[in-house]
Amino acid sequence: MEIERLVVGALQTNCYVLKSDGEAAVIDPGAPDERILEAVDGQGLELKHILLTHAHFDHLEGAALLKERHPRSRLALHRADLPIMEHFAPELHPDAFLEEGDAVAIGKESLRVWHTPGHSPGSVIFLHEEGQLIFSGDLLFAGSIGRTDLPGGSPAEMERSLRRLVELESKSKSKGKGDFAVYPGHGPPTTLTRERASNPFLRELVRQMSGALDLDSDSDSPGSLKPEGLWPPERR
Ligand SMILES: [Zn+2]
Ligand SMILES: [Zn+2]
Repeated sequence: MEIERLVVGALQTNCYVLKSDGEAAVIDPGAPDERILEAVDGQGLELKHILLTHAHFDHLEGAALLKERHPRSRLALHRADLPIMEHFAPELHPDAFLEEGDAVAIGKESLRVWHTPGHSPGSVIFLHEEGQLIFSGDLLFAGSIGRTDLPGGSPAEMERSLRRLVELESKSKSKGKGDFAVYPGHGPPTTLTRERASNPFLRELVRQMSGALDLDSDSDSPGSLKPEGLWPPERR
């Protein structure tokens, strides 16, 4: 699968164009930027899906233009973010809803949908299991995580969603698989192994989840991520 990363819009959102076998999917068209269309049309690809990791304006403001130029593409997001979409972009109407476990086909490739609320109620991430890739939206960034203080955000749900990622790697390791590349909604790509080792939020989760072995632990609040003050200050 070919991946093209375009940084679009005022909040420098990562828009990803995925290509396989004559078909394309766009993840998070954050602005009506002609480069997104060029990435699809320049190679004569059929745009099958417009996928939203969530419905904040900086991830969907280019969706209307894509739908206009590619009316047969399917705009999809998780149902729980529909009120946010209606708030930011009342002119948009989803063609499909994404649910936990769904498979999204692009040419010969397939993405798996995980529902990972916390940043917003309907936040999802997309896993390309074969290629060991994760499109993490505003759940996980290089060195940071998404904020939870916007409407519908939830620190507890955020923690549960991040724990799934921490577990994902340990599971795949036991199967002898390698690391996962992470393509976030903002900022540079990273890997799950790197984030577990250096991201303060994932490190804390790893520490908690291996707590039974951590006899020197001085933590008096297992299960608490204590995000205050470290949560990214940027509006994401
Ligand atoms: Zn964002
Ligand atoms: Zn967001």
